[in-house]
Amino acid sequence: MDTRFLGEFLPHILRGHEEWMSAYPPFETDATLAIAPERVASVLNELRERLRENYPFFHPFYAGQMLKPPHPAAVLGYFAAMLINPNNHALDGGPATGRMEKEAAAELASIFGYSSALAHLTGGGTVANLEALWVARNLHPGAAVAYSEHAHYTHPRMCELLGIRGIPIPSDGQGRMDLTILERALRSEEVGTIVATVGTTGLGACDPLPEILALAKRHDARVHADAAYGGFFRLASRGDDPVVDPAVFDALPACDSIVVDPHKHGLQPYGCGCVMFRDASVGRFYKHDSPYTYFTSRELHLGEISLECSRAGASAAALWVTMRLIPFAADEGLGPILKRCRRAALRWAALIRGSESLCLLVEPELDIIAFFPTPGVPLASEVSRLSDGVFRSCMSDPRKPVFLSVLRVRTSLLCRHYPWVTADTEWTTVLRSVLMKPEHEDHVDALHARVEEAAREVSRNR
Ligand SMILES: *Cc1c(COP(=O)(O)O)cnc(C)c1O
Repeated sequence: MDTRFLGEFLPHILRGHEEWMSAYPPFETDATLAIAPERVASVLNELRERLRENYPFFHPFYAGQMLKPPHPAAVLGYFAAMLINPNNHALDGGPATGRMEKEAAAELASIFGYSSALAHLTGGGTVANLEALWVARNLHPGAAVAYSEHAHYTHPRMCELLGIRGIPIPSDGQGRMDLTILERALRSEEVGTIVATVGTTGLGACDPLPEILALAKRHDARVHADAAYGGFFRLASRGDDPVVDPAVFDALPACDSIVVDPHKHGLQPYGCGCVMFRDASVGRFYKHDSPYTYFTSRELHLGEISLECSRAGASAAALWVTMRLIPFAADEGLGPILKRCRRAALRWAALIRGSESLCLLVEPELDIIAFFPTPGVPLASEVSRLSDGVFRSCMSDPRKPVFLSVLRVRTSLLCRHYPWVTADTEWTTVLRSVLMKPEHEDHVDALHARVEEAAREVSRNR
């Protein structure tokens, strides 16, 4: 986070805000809202201490979960709008940010090749997926939803919530939905919707979308792409130096609905997901009356096309500002950022392939890698124990901590690639690293060296 950049522009925002307020008759802030400045300082000090408990998500040596600070451009947009606190439920509550949301959502839709889509922002990917499945249920009442066993854990939960039967489909050796099993399910049951995950949360695997679309067509099913994590990699599949396989990303425009999370790879603070529908007429399902809110405009109020009521207008302002300053394009702005993340994963995967103390679980498709220490005795339980050991050793290094995450996978996935592993347990813990900051590309060698050292050390002390 470039705090100097923020320091330069935050006063500018405060001045603009004061100017706006001063256009209205002056009044005194009520005494009940007053707080003593000394107390503010002390509580802020306490806050500062408490926030130290966080892992350093901003640092290239944090290569654990899907976490990083928002871009300062987003912070400025969010901050400026938050001072007003508009609510994008209705144009009455947030006329300016409501329009920004429509512009930003239309631009997001166009990134995915949707020309006349219905699109809006949500609190996050979970709600965005819920909306897509809710529309899917309305179009195919009574039919099941199929998703890969590696789909986000909220899909089975959303199905439960919506009273839909969910069918988990086992995955292949790369963590992608197994097409043979999917086809069997389509033949034997009434499946209304297939959820294809574009970038699984665990491995960053992309379900084979072109083949899924072909199967869906034959069986009259909808296809919903959960691209919450991976969607923006469409930009990295294009332009001068594409670094991800374009097949899946080229197929996105043919999906019936898409979810993407600007708060994951779109540089935004939390609270920003997006759902889009290729056929805008599904907006009819959202139709409702609100006796409280829709009165100053005949234009579309965003609350009329979303399940949530209140939503932060500030989220829309943050995204709108970001997209103007950092174009969401293949060769400038976001594309080159994602390409660096992807190259970091390719580089680390190559280093692991050449390592004697680490094994790559699967080839990375995006910017997430999974690997495990190679013990002398290849029992799955031993792999789990050593993975945990490396995880803890790296994190607790007082000089130069490195932060990874761990992932539980079926041992059968390991055995497909490493038949010498004895499956003494059903699940195995492996190490996982999300390389979602462009700086990772320059620090991967150092990360690898540290992790390799830890792997050697835990293997020795086994
Ligand atoms: C993160 C994620 C979700 C859930 O999104 P939230 O924004 O955390 O609610 C859903 N699907 C996938 C593939 C994800 O990676």
